[in-house]
Amino acid sequence: MATLPEPIRNPEIKYSQLFINNEYVNSVSGQTFPTINPVTEEKIVDVQEGDKADVDKAVAAAKEAFKMGSPWRRMDASMRGRLLWKLADLIEKDRAYICSLETLDNGKSFSSASGDLDFSLEVIRYYAGWADKIQGRTIPVNGDFFCYTRHEPVGICAAIIPWNYPIPMFSWKFAPCLASGSVMIMKPAEQTPLTAIYLGSLVKEAGFPPGVFNVIPGYGPTAGAALSAHPEINKVAFTGSTEIGQVIMASAAGSNIKRTTLELGGKSPNIIFADADLDTSVAFAHEAVMDNMGQCCIAGSRTYVQEEIYDEFVKRSVEKAKQRTVGDPFDSSTVNGPQIDNEQFTKILGLIESGKQEGATLQCGGTRHGDKGYYIEPTVFSNVDDNMKIAKEEIFGPVQQIIKFKDLDDVIERANRTMYGLGAAIFTKDIDKALTFAHSIKAGTVWVNCYLAVNAQAPFGGFKMSGLGRELGEYGLQQYLEVKNVVIKVPQKNS
Ligand code: ADP
Repeated sequence: MATLPEPIRNPEIKYSQLFINNEYVNSVSGQTFPTINPVTEEKIVDVQEGDKADVDKAVAAAKEAFKMGSPWRRMDASMRGRLLWKLADLIEKDRAYICSLETLDNGKSFSSASGDLDFSLEVIRYYAGWADKIQGRTIPVNGDFFCYTRHEPVGICAAIIPWNYPIPMFSWKFAPCLASGSVMIMKPAEQTPLTAIYLGSLVKEAGFPPGVFNVIPGYGPTAGAALSAHPEINKVAFTGSTEIGQVIMASAAGSNIKRTTLELGGKSPNIIFADADLDTSVAFAHEAVMDNMGQCCIAGSRTYVQEEIYDEFVKRSVEKAKQRTVGDPFDSSTVNGPQIDNEQFTKILGLIESGKQEGATLQCGGTRHGDKGYYIEPTVFSNVDDNMKIAKEEIFGPVQQIIKFKDLDDVIERANRTMYGLGAAIFTKDIDKALTFAHSIKAGTVWVNCYLAVNAQAPFGGFKMSGLGRELGEYGLQQYLEVKNVVIKVPQKNS
């Protein structure tokens, strides 16, 4: 991992407009919306607000960029890879600025923003390597035919991304899309539009032709809805809540059967057996739910602990939570910054209240931290029952629920008793238990003796209501490709 650069405490806001056709422009309506600093609760800047008219403009630009014979369509696949590499180099060069911008807009610590950026570079460079390795097949069909497949770019893609990991969400969608030869219109979350807007300038500098990548900042029900409903957009890639995922899927289906990938909510079980190394599992379980202030779809938010070690595990988890530093995200000693906005802050405090009322034991935290900014104290609940709201609903905050279990059969059944299926983890030294669990749990990712090990090369996504399709790795690339079958009659020689 690269060493941490010095943060820029007051990064200049270089761009706050829409990015269409490689140019920064105002919205058609001229309206703006404020993006708020979650540390101060004050406005950072007014951002141009895109809606349907702007989406139409971006679609026209993307269509032009994607038409047969355009510079983008005629570009060698290897060149697409080189442009992606170039972009990664430019992002890396600008690391201090981009991470500072992210910290300002999102509230996550500067070191966490740097971790996000490093992972995003891995993803962009991984897909750069794929650009000229996208191959079809020749197929020995019956009869006198030459039959082959082409893996063609899916076309105009919309990316609707969330506020919890703005830079990684940019890279997870941008890189496979552009490697495939498709083009993209991205709508960043209204809470965190600044990094995606800025990245537009680097995409241009890297040499991507106009219209290949466009950014429309704005709100979900306007700009987002216009994207998912647009009849000329071929695919929508969404990361966000399950509720909005359902809205987007319906809209994508109703408008033109858009290809759809959805990465949605979770309530991932993290199972700790008595035979696991206690220090390691306490540390992982803590990080699994506290990382990014709990604002992580795959957070290990149901910590199941075997009854023999339950009390000791709770005690050590509380010690860890109390040690977690909360404060100014630009300070190098800070681990937890504020939650993203007042809505999330209020929702999390409401869920904490419900935990208390339903009889869980509040071991630590449970309240606001300080009196300014959307800060919440790292919180630990013990004596949590599966039926409590805090054990069922996605909290998206720094709140750990520690639940007791008896044995493997008991815990597999309970772990699967949820509408979600994003991630799961097991801590044990017993390979039989680990394998039985890994194969029985209905989740897109299963970790054994680790957590949050997400890799550029391996698929990420959900079972059940946690999503549809996969991102990252080769599986993620496939979501940006259409398979075309070409069949040619071969004349036969008689002799
Ligand atoms: P959260 O509740 O965590 O903010 P959302 O699912 O509401 O998550 O938001 C994720 C992304 O989806 C954001 O970019 C948001 O603007 C967008 N969005 C919200 N509502 C809609 C909608 N009706 N159609 C399309 N996009 C939407």
